[in-house]
Amino acid sequence: MSYSSPLESRLAKKVTRALADYQMLEAGDRVMVGLSGGKDSWALIALLDVLRQRAPFEFSIVAVNVDSGYKDYEHEQIRDACRARGWELHVEHTQIGSVMDDLLEPNATPCSLCARLRRGVLYRLADSVGATKIALGHHADDFIETLLLNLFFGGSLKAMPAKLVSDDRRHVVIRPLVGVLESEARAYTKAHRLPIISCCCPACGDLSLQRQRIKRLVLELEREHPGVKQSMLTALGNVVPSHLVDRRLNPPEALRADPKVRAMLDRTDEAAGTAHADEAFAALIPIVSGRQWRAEIGRGASGASGAPAGDEA
Ligand code: SF4
Repeated sequence: MSYSSPLESRLAKKVTRALADYQMLEAGDRVMVGLSGGKDSWALIALLDVLRQRAPFEFSIVAVNVDSGYKDYEHEQIRDACRARGWELHVEHTQIGSVMDDLLEPNATPCSLCARLRRGVLYRLADSVGATKIALGHHADDFIETLLLNLFFGGSLKAMPAKLVSDDRRHVVIRPLVGVLESEARAYTKAHRLPIISCCCPACGDLSLQRQRIKRLVLELEREHPGVKQSMLTALGNVVPSHLVDRRLNPPEALRADPKVRAMLDRTDEAAGTAHADEAFAALIPIVSGRQWRAEIGRGASGASGAPAGDEA
């Protein structure tokens, strides 16, 4: 089976690469695609369906649509488009929109609460449709924007995981479009005449949101210096821990040798890629901070050396 266009061929290769690099799929998987009706989720399900027909192992796809309860949301169009292509779809009607109205203060940014509520619904739906993986349509631009949002406003250097195991280890979330640009997802969805549906959320497109500001910033930079976006994407996979100043990434040798610390570092390695990663990493902070690690080492072997030059006490 050949690809329908050079664009499909390019995007299929990008998605295949992500699937392989992060070991997102395995034989027998039932992949639940979060299908909002936006351009990204349409591109995701269409590309996964193309790859499903070419894959050397079998997996199945089921789409779920979480209706937040906004008036005028045209989920019927989503249903029709899926039916025409033979894609299995479950529509879940919720009151997420009005729950947020009740919980949020006026002028509060609704997106993180919205994401948490929708995530809860997706986990429940994954159980009810028997899904082994939950695929979300976040693309390369989302990864870049999240990185900058955390850097500028969150005080941390992180984007989002391409693959995440939930806290209780019962759900695995994958983001196969990690290498696909937003413009590519839009072009692919349009080329396949999939109906792009507005989510009807009042915050959608609100230019005062920090994410929209970041989007404009990246757009302006890309116009001035074509390739900036690709460079940021490459940077996400090209981290140099020794050139950051997070002590957890570079514990001094003497500290690494301590059995208690060694056990904690092992735990951090084991938790990598799971929802426990941040928690395990954070547990190292008090131990590897300058004063405390000396105290730790001092307790085990007084007079231990190995402190880096200039490491203030
Ligand atoms: S724009 Fe609306 S639908 Fe989108 S994440 Fe924010 S609150 Fe949710």
